Amino acid sequence: MARIVQKFGGTSVGDVERIKNVALKVKAEIDRGNEVAVVLSAMSGETNRLVGLVNQMGSLYDAREYDSVVATGEQITIGLLALALQDLGVSARSWLGWQVPFHTDDVHAKARIQKIDVDELDKRMKTGEVPVVAGFQGIGPDNRITTLGRGGSDTSAVALAAALGADRCDIYTDVDGVYTSDPRIVTKARKLEKITYEEMLEMASLGAKVLQTRAVEMAMKHGQRLQVLSSFEDKPGTLVVDEEEIVEKELVSGIAYSRDEAKITLVRVSDKPGVAAAIFGPLSDASVNVDMIVQNESVAGKATDLTFTVTQADLERAVKTLEKHSDDIGYEKLHSDANVVKISVVGVGMRSHAGVAQRMFATLAEKGINIQVISTSEIKVSVLIDEEYTELALRALHTAYGLDAA
Ligand code: ASP
Ligand code: MG
Repeated sequence: MARIVQKFGGTSVGDVERIKNVALKVKAEIDRGNEVAVVLSAMSGETNRLVGLVNQMGSLYDAREYDSVVATGEQITIGLLALALQDLGVSARSWLGWQVPFHTDDVHAKARIQKIDVDELDKRMKTGEVPVVAGFQGIGPDNRITTLGRGGSDTSAVALAAALGADRCDIYTDVDGVYTSDPRIVTKARKLEKITYEEMLEMASLGAKVLQTRAVEMAMKHGQRLQVLSSFEDKPGTLVVDEEEIVEKELVSGIAYSRDEAKITLVRVSDKPGVAAAIFGPLSDASVNVDMIVQNESVAGKATDLTFTVTQADLERAVKTLEKHSDDIGYEKLHSDANVVKISVVGVGMRSHAGVAQRMFATLAEKGINIQVISTSEIKVSVLIDEEYTELALRALHTAYGLDAA
């Protein structure tokens, strides 16, 4: 017997027929003799609709009332699933966040879970009852409903699984797992059987949008085993696990990319102490997130060019901020370019192997692709290139690291 938390996303509970299909998936686990708790999202599109209603009331709103409105989508799906389960003869009841309760802090609209009281759920699961729990919500110290930020029901599920001591948290979604690269571009991409938390974090923050980043961080912290799988097919997905569980570590597990990048170059910045602080201080005050940074060699020791990347949404704000502070910083020209893409190779295997970066550079060189910026971390090498070469670079790298499906 195992204890499992099953989480179903918006498309999986998108209409009544799909909710009935979810009930069958839950029953199948119960029939295998397992204890099951379910966490649900709202029907797909519903939370957007609710946010839209709030916005129609004006742009300056009370976040506590925003939470009260946007948390309602999940109330509908949990009630409907409990009914569908009862219809199949499975004992089930719905639970709102405050009923469990999921205690959170008071940062409305992006609250963090602090503690979940699972005693009652635990007791009922042992009798075969299935708790059907609303994701995305909790109750704050002010005794009011909170929500966890968009996509937060993944985090609800992982937190509940950890609190219940579940053997596995299955995240059912509309893709069947985590791939070595984006299968829409790299047709030879393979589904990974297993991936480590750390790799998943890199892949998730790089745009492989299968899991909310916070949910992966929480799973890593608690050592909670996760599985990402499709609710529309009947086959295993990808397990997200601790590094020790993976015996055959691949050098590189995946190639990720992000088109949401923009490059800024400051030409002939004076090369003296305090210049980097004069540039990045105002940017940080303006809430601009800077990612990759390179500074080239000084020209005769007096000036230097500095290039860095920001997200496309921040580009305009970054440029305006730098122009405003141009006197303090002292640069000759500012160039910006939004036609860039960041490509990253990710893998825990590179901790213990040399030559991973070199293979990336050689592969891109062979294709005549120019590298504009490079950055590395312990398990990742990223390069910035012209957006035009995204597909070519992804496919070439996928082949070069031996990831292509047979
Ligand atoms: N329904 C919420 C949203 O759309 C939470 C979730 O689906 O994870 O953001
Ligand atoms: Mg989601």
